[in-house]
Amino acid sequence: CIQSELTVLPYGRQSISAADIAAVTEAMESGWLTTGPKVAEFEQACAEQVGAKHAVAVCNATAALHLAMLVAKIGPGDRVVTSPNTFLASANCAAYVGAIPDFSDIDPISYNLCPQSLSANWKPDVKAVVAVDYAGQTADMPAIAEVARSRGAVVIEDACHAVGGSFEHDGELWKVGGHPWADMTTFSFHPVKTMTTGEGGMLVTDNGEYANKARMLRTHGMIRGDGELQGLGDAAFEERGPWYYEMQDLGYNYRITDFQCALGLSQLRQLELFIARRREIVAAYNEAFSDVAILRTPQLRNEKDRDLTSWHLYTLQIDFESLGITRTQFMKSLAETGVGSQVLYIPVYLQPWYRRTYGYGTGKCPMAEHFYLRSLSLPLYPEMNDQDVSTVIDAIKRLVA
Ligand SMILES: *Cc1c(COP(=O)(O)O)cnc(C)c1O
Repeated sequence: CIQSELTVLPYGRQSISAADIAAVTEAMESGWLTTGPKVAEFEQACAEQVGAKHAVAVCNATAALHLAMLVAKIGPGDRVVTSPNTFLASANCAAYVGAIPDFSDIDPISYNLCPQSLSANWKPDVKAVVAVDYAGQTADMPAIAEVARSRGAVVIEDACHAVGGSFEHDGELWKVGGHPWADMTTFSFHPVKTMTTGEGGMLVTDNGEYANKARMLRTHGMIRGDGELQGLGDAAFEERGPWYYEMQDLGYNYRITDFQCALGLSQLRQLELFIARRREIVAAYNEAFSDVAILRTPQLRNEKDRDLTSWHLYTLQIDFESLGITRTQFMKSLAETGVGSQVLYIPVYLQPWYRRTYGYGTGKCPMAEHFYLRSLSLPLYPEMNDQDVSTVIDAIKRLVA
């Protein structure tokens, strides 16, 4: 693999091989730059990989989430509930369409949306639930779908952390993106995620109408001769030809390039290897940290998911108060020994814009706040070698001693 010198191990990082570079070069030499054959090929490969009927590739996962809102017809007057323990985009997508983003608390094991809280705090205007697979561990999708669907809401799984993951339910194995408890699933291919296209995202669904609509909105809501043309509404302007195009919905430019999809196809072939290495590192961290009283290692909601989860993050819970050191000091000391770290996540509703716009504040989701105050994500990416892993373990052990 091709890796430049790093002075501090980051919390996440891409792996780019010579095969990836060759794939991108070949795509660029093909004459296609934007939407070309590699886009359809990558969509097909992703749909097959997860076992979904349709996949729509877009320029990033934020766009995929926005499209999910649009095709589910979420808009003003609607409320969308997501996890507070997520990246901003899981909630922002609701605000983009004029709906109210709202938050329901997480459970203390998986740090994902708690189905019981979701049910207990349900409001009649909730029209969609965006369930996030924090760190790669899946949310309890069957339970969340039961709560949401029985009340008429659609279920979107923000699986940006769970690319290539699967989970067990009732003795059966289900792939993220290919199970019946999400109406749409979104993946991110940002470089810190499990595989990359530079920037990039994917919307997968079994619903053909959703997929067609998303594909149309990805490129300005524009259709050509093969779509359902309605006409411009004036006989004098009804000339038709192969050149003719029509816009029936307000769309966006959310396209991804052909060479990014060539990279995606090449990365997809390495995905199992990436995930296997991530699992090894997680196992090494767990073994090193599980007997340290002041640390809490990531726990599984379902023990059977241990080798099914595609870990994106390794987040410790650290009792900084008992240590008598602030998290920022802790992170600074770590960085001095070459270990980067990150805080993931600040509960989204505590962000100034959310406070100002919706009147949210501290106390809304106590478990998410508790989690945030103790959270520290350590370096986790396939190109870490055993020496890097030891460096992280030694640095943490030294600091908590
Ligand atoms: C990264 C991420 C996103 C946004 O993905 P982009 O591809 O960067 O737009 C959305 N949700 C979660 C949970 C993420 O981690």
